Amino acid sequence: MDIDKPCIFCQIVRGEKPASIIYQDDLIMAFMLIRPIHPGEFMIIPKEHIDEFCDIPDDLACHIIIHAQRLSRNLRKKLNPKRVGLVVHGFGVAHAHLIVVPQHDEMDIVSGRHLYLEDGEIKFGVSHLPSPSREELNRMAECLSEE
Ligand SMILES: [Zn+2]
Repeated sequence: MDIDKPCIFCQIVRGEKPASIIYQDDLIMAFMLIRPIHPGEFMIIPKEHIDEFCDIPDDLACHIIIHAQRLSRNLRKKLNPKRVGLVVHGFGVAHAHLIVVPQHDEMDIVSGRHLYLEDGEIKFGVSHLPSPSREELNRMAECLSEE
């Protein structure tokens, strides 16, 4: 963490910055995004400053996911989105955060790489993306299956 730029999420955890908190316990905090895609979008963070989500200890990661599930079901019941999405992109604030997105459109969570132009309209899909050969896919699977 850059010492000159304090972590905004750690400041929220310490109560130094405001947040609209949905849930918290000793380990995690869930609060509303200040610029949601749709109303109801929130995030869950570990209270401990950990940069990347994949570095969160297993037990704590499970705790986050369990509460994401519970809070997502509640969000679905109260706001009735078409789907509830979970996103960990790791950009923005360098403090691990799982974003829970009420989705009302299939383009609410997309990569810019999923977008393409067809007949002058912006479309969403994967058919235009290059598909690696089975050999390349198998090679990548083997690479990723090893520690
Ligand atoms: Zn932090």
